[in-house]
Amino acid sequence: MRGTAIANNTPQTFALRASLRRGARWLRDLERRTRPVDPEVLTALARRWEELPPGVQTPAQMLGRKLTGCEGTHGVFPACNFGCQPCYLSANSNRVRVDGAHTVAEVKRQMAFFRERRGPAQYAQLIGGEVSLLPAEAHAEALEMMRRYGRMPMSFSHGDFDYEYLEEIAVRPDGSRRFDLVSFAIHIDSTMRGRRGIRHAGSERELHPERRRVREMFDRLTAEHGVRTHLAHNMTVTPDNLDEVADVVRVCRELGYSSCEERSSAKRRSRRTASWSGSSPRRLTAALMSRKVPAASPQRRHASRWRDTRRAPS
Ligand code: SF4
Repeated sequence: MRGTAIANNTPQTFALRASLRRGARWLRDLERRTRPVDPEVLTALARRWEELPPGVQTPAQMLGRKLTGCEGTHGVFPACNFGCQPCYLSANSNRVRVDGAHTVAEVKRQMAFFRERRGPAQYAQLIGGEVSLLPAEAHAEALEMMRRYGRMPMSFSHGDFDYEYLEEIAVRPDGSRRFDLVSFAIHIDSTMRGRRGIRHAGSERELHPERRRVREMFDRLTAEHGVRTHLAHNMTVTPDNLDEVADVVRVCRELGYSSCEERSSAKRRSRRTASWSGSSPRRLTAALMSRKVPAASPQRRHASRWRDTRRAPS
């Protein structure tokens, strides 16, 4: 045994061990790099799982297993030129700073936080106001910033902008593509007020031409510049338009929207009934089914205060 140990300490065996260690390190690194999930994502998923209340750590839970959750910017651009009812903005919207430089800086701050907490390769919405009111250059910069921090961005907009604006976001002044893919969620429904083409639609059907116009803008971008597009359609559902949801979904599918999202509203003054303020999701769902409306609450007063502060539709 003693003779063997002495033989193992020759310069050749030291060199052999060093190269074996290097080989093992290389193999470990290769295994990590070719894992189906990035280790940073795995760490973020594990943290997300630990943060979940025990009651929702069920076998069917996707948060913390497949996803870290939905992401969106918050309060970076709380301005809008529409006067919808309901609206998703806060009471101080249209009263705070909303210029391009400020928006991009705040987007950067929030994306750095997401990257640190949620890891890379996550979807995130540029949301929290009407982002098409941002100058196109600032809008594009915000999207680039989101990508830089490993987000796959989607702009959330009412869609009341022109092709030239979309083109300026996706294509540089020299004609080269700034993005290979642009992703937008377009909110169009009859609860909205202020659209240039139709200020106040009486039904969802009246808005189908607008849905088509938006789809055609994005198709033109693909045809002229090769920019691929992902277009989602959003709408707010109230007792007034509930019966038209199926038709909207059918039309959006025919027009080539990639997905449809319907949000029920708890703040809608129904033309058929009274007020929807203060409904819990459960009460609202029950009311949507029965068409009975909960009593008004103090939230209604809050909504009125907000409406008084917004700019007139352009
Ligand atoms: S488009 Fe309508 S719902 Fe959306 S932020 Fe503007 S006013 Fe609110």
